[in-house]
This record gives sequence, structure tokens and C-alpha cells, in this order.
Amino acid sequence: RSSAEKFEFQAEVSRLMDIIINSLYSNKDIFLRELISNASDALDKIRFLSLTDKEILGEGDNAKLEIQIKLDKENKILSIRDRGIGMTKEDLIKNLGTIAKSGTSAFVEKMQKSGDLNLIGQFGVGFYSVYLVADYVEVISKHNDDKQYVWESKADGAFAISEDTWNEPLGRGTEIRIHLRDEAGEYLEEFKLKELVKRYSEFINFPISLWASKEVDVEVPADEDESSEEDDSSKTSSEEESEDEDAEKKPKTKTVKETTYEWELLNDVKAIWLRSPKDVTEEEYNKFYHTLAKDFSEEKPLSWSHFTAEGDVEFKAVLFVPPKAPHDLYESYYNSNKSNLKLYVRRVFISDEFDELLPKYLNFLKGLVDSDSLPLNVSREMLQQHSSLKTIKKKLIRKALDMIRRIADEDPDESTNKDKKDEVSSDDDEKKGKYATFWKEFGKSIKLGIIEDATNRNRLAKLLRFETTKSEGKFTSLDQYISRMKSGQKDIFYITGTSKEQLEKSPFIEQLKKKNYEVIFFTDPVDEYLMQYLMDYEDKKFQNVSKEGLKLGKSAKDKELKESFKDLTKWWKKSLVRDNVDDVKISNRLENTPCVVVTSKFGWSANMERIMQSQTL
Ligand code: ADP
Ligand code: MG
Repeated sequence: RSSAEKFEFQAEVSRLMDIIINSLYSNKDIFLRELISNASDALDKIRFLSLTDKEILGEGDNAKLEIQIKLDKENKILSIRDRGIGMTKEDLIKNLGTIAKSGTSAFVEKMQKSGDLNLIGQFGVGFYSVYLVADYVEVISKHNDDKQYVWESKADGAFAISEDTWNEPLGRGTEIRIHLRDEAGEYLEEFKLKELVKRYSEFINFPISLWASKEVDVEVPADEDESSEEDDSSKTSSEEESEDEDAEKKPKTKTVKETTYEWELLNDVKAIWLRSPKDVTEEEYNKFYHTLAKDFSEEKPLSWSHFTAEGDVEFKAVLFVPPKAPHDLYESYYNSNKSNLKLYVRRVFISDEFDELLPKYLNFLKGLVDSDSLPLNVSREMLQQHSSLKTIKKKLIRKALDMIRRIADEDPDESTNKDKKDEVSSDDDEKKGKYATFWKEFGKSIKLGIIEDATNRNRLAKLLRFETTKSEGKFTSLDQYISRMKSGQKDIFYITGTSKEQLEKSPFIEQLKKKNYEVIFFTDPVDEYLMQYLMDYEDKKFQNVSKEGLKLGKSAKDKELKESFKDLTKWWKKSLVRDNVDDVKISNRLENTPCVVVTSKFGWSANMERIMQSQTL
């Protein structure tokens, strides 16, 4: 069209589209899920705005918050339309092509290393999956604040936008017209679409209908030839009156099959969280997780918690621990507040950007909160400050930590179980429990929690896992450590460094090993920070064995040695290294090494010095 304005896709988006178009990925079905998910998001947005402005929905069909799917077999077009918020011209330009989201390059990179296209929605670029099945796409959209526009692209690096003067007015919302590739003809089959919508959209909170064909019995006038024959025969032998009588007895019509079209509802909108947990099957929770988290990997969530909170603030919630950490969980930790909880008020979706619901360190959880105790008709900003949110947050944290504890209790990493060590099983068939997966994926979050959340520090510390001088390459917990403590041992011993291999050779632990004390190895950079916050656990103090203050029980000999070497230590301290050390002491912590440099109790450990240096460089 001559009036169309042309635009080029942002470079990363263009690369992404190339990858999708040339992909040999066999599961092309996912495009439908992504487009329905976008339609549902758009409906959520308009519904939210309508809470404070009733007028915004308009009247009649416009006010129906729904998704409709139509097939045009002849022209090979599949259309999906919603009565959501719609897009202005500017929205179309930005959202569908010129502004690359943070996930775009991450996803491109992943795909180049043969990643799973199924994960596209999690990277925030789900729309482009439409080019798995299309060679040409039109997006017709009408936003309340603008005229109706058409966005169109053949995925050849460019798209065009025109004011829509030829299609039927949409009222409000968006219609995606997918011109299917020849090999994607199956998406013109009603049964295929019905199956897909059922599979992918069970938990979409808006009605989805298909313009579906239906065979119906219709009465049509009986065949003319037949009736005229009969008429002829009757005319010759009957009076006018009897002719009429006869005609009434004989059927004037007959039944034939005819194809008609009507909207067929494909999903029943059900809010799983409103049901009693005992009525929801595991399968349903798993499916709900996939829809909620836009995580369509084959993996199931590690755990979930579905509960009702009563009292001053009432709410229902479902929380999930995902099977895997998202690609950018820690990358954006300090500059993003994005929580993954969806907030509903009385069944109406409000926002998934409420960072007031969970502390940062629990941002890896997915889930949903629906409260009747929050006001519906206030702005997001007002809601954000509502006092009930604090109560909700407190309860959510408790429930989340309980849920994680349950994974550890019910499905521990059995390879850490020392009691079973002597039994028949070889290392190979030892069971890696779900908690091992949890720890690998989200252990860092637990550590960050210990640093940030003083109130729940002890609960979080229970969830810590680490290796020790006695753990034989396996992970163990503080409770297990304590159960193995020697009688008379007061402190929990640990050492920090870059690797277990390095620490095992450390002179700091020689004597402890010999005396059969267990020492924890902390080898993650974050552990140094962690141990500045974790002072004690179950009334036991933590003692860094490379720091001053290590007590291994005194002997009479200690005092004697101290006396006899007094002059040497004094001389050493004064003359040799005066500016570099605080003190020189006789120690009983060594076995084979003649001397070590120890950090003062409140100073940085050598490992911390190393970390700080690497950060300033
Ligand atoms: P995401 O849904 O994760 O944001 P997508 O690539 O699926 O990423 O969609 C990109 C953007 O395009 C959306 O964020 C939204 O702003 C816009 N969009 C897509 N489909 C629709 C729609 N049906 N109605 C309104 N806006 C839409
Ligand atoms: Mg999307």
C-alpha cells in the first residue's frame, strides 16, 4: 500500500526472526500458546484499567473480555482476536519490532547453541514464534487512544504500518492474521485447534471460542420433481378440496445435513486457586505451573504450596519452586525488583510487578496471590502502599520457606546420608534427591536470604548445604554437622577459599583434622559475605579456622611454651614485621607447618581480601 510507513526491525529482532523462520524445530504448535498468552495479557490490562474507569470498556460486544479464533481455509488464514487493550501506532512500532527486550539477545545466543525454542515465552519474545508457521502476518489493532492500524511483515527484515481504512472496525483490541505457510496447513483444521487450545490454555482466565462448523439437520422443502409428479397424479383424479387434504398428509419438507457456523467455547474458565487443594490433582498443578510460569519445558516444578490465609487479611495463594533457575536470575538481582508473583484482587488480575509481595531473594518462586482484603478500585500506586501487603508478605515468606524445607525433608539428596554409607549401594546408584537440584539451582538465593533477612535467618540457615572435611565430596547441612560434633566441641568450624581441593591442603586445618574435628568448606564468593551475617546457629558460634580465636582445648604445655618463646615472639613482632601484623602468638592449631598468618577476629579473611581485590580491579 502506498500510504504504508516502512520500518526496519531492530538488528537482534531480525536475527531472532531469521532463526525462527529457518528453524527445524518440530513443535510448531507453541505459536498458538504464545499468541493466546498475549491476548490474555492484553485482556488483563484492560480489565485492570476498567476497575477505576468503567467507561473504558465501552458497550455491547466491546465490553466482552474474550478471545476468538477463526479459520479461513480458502485463503489459508488463521485469525486470533482479542478485546484487550489494543496497541496504538507507537505501541505497534515499539512492541513488535524496534525495541529489543533484554531477553532477545539472550534468547538468540541460546538458540545458536541449539537451545529449546519452547522456552521463547520466558524470554519475552513469544510473539515472533508466529513465524514458525507463517510467511506473512498482519496485526490489526485498535487502542482507545488511537485510530485502527495494521502492522504487517513478511519477516524480511522490515515491517510496515498503515492506518486501517479497509478492514472492519475492531472496536477495541487486536486481531492477528496469520497467513499460514503451505506446510502448516494442519492449523486450518478445527480439531487440531480445539486440541491445542485445550492443551495450552486450560488456565487462561478468559473465554476462548472457535468459529466452528457444525453439521445440523435442517428441514428443506421436499424435492420438487417428486412433489410435482404427485401433484400431477392427484390433479387428474381429485377435486380441488381433496387435493389440499392430500398435500397436508404428504411431507412437504425433508431433513438434510447442512454446515453452519457458530462460536464454540473451548475452555472453561476455572480459577484453580479457589478450589480446595485436596480436589486438585498433581497433574493439574503441573499444568497450572506451566501456564503461570510460561515454562513449557517438560520438567515439573520441584514443589508447590497451595493455601488459604485467614484472619485480618484473607488471601489464597499458590507458590511453585521451578525446576530450573531462569537465565537471568542473578544477573539482574540488584537492579531489578521483578517478583514472579501475580497479584489478583477478587479474581481480577492486578499486576505481576509487585515487588512488595516477596523479598528479592525469593524472586525465583513463581505463583499467585488472590486477596479479598485488598480494595479493587484504587490505583496500583495506592495498592502498593496498602497495609495488608505487609501481612501477606510475611505469610508468603513463611509458607515459601516451609515449602522448601519440605523438599529437603521429603526428598533429600540421599547421597549425603552418611548412615547409609556402608550399605550395599555404590556411588553410581545413589539417589540425587530433589533437594540436590534445588540447591544447585537456587542455593545462592538461600545464601542471599541469610544476608538480607535477619528475621528468617535461622530458618534459612537450616536450608544451607556445603561440603566439609568429613563429607566425602557430598553435601551436608548444619544440623548434620552438629549431630557429628565431638563432645566438648563448642564452635562450628569453617574455612573459606576458592576450592575444596585448595582448602583441604590448608595448614589451618591440619590440627583439626588430626583431632577429628569437622571443618566446613565455604568456596563460593558469596560465602564470605554470608559468614559476616551468620554468627551462630542453634547456640553454636561459627569459628573461621583461619582467624584468631580458634580454641581446641588447652593443655598445660601451652602456657609453658608461651613462656619459653616469649622473647622470640616479642622480637618477631617488633623487629621483623611490625607494620604488617598485629600480633605474634604461640599456637596449637598447626601440625606440620611451622607457622601461619592468621586474620584477626574482626578482620577480613585472606579469601575476602582476594574477593575484594578482584572486585576493585
Ligand atoms: P511478552 O508477551 O513476553 O511481552 P511478546 O513477544 O509475546 O512478549 O509480545 C511483545 C509485546 O507486544 C507485548 O509485551 C505487548 O506489549 C505487545 N502485544 C503482543 N500481542 C498483543 C496483543 N494481542 N494485544 C496487545 N498487545 C500485544
Ligand atoms: Mg507474550
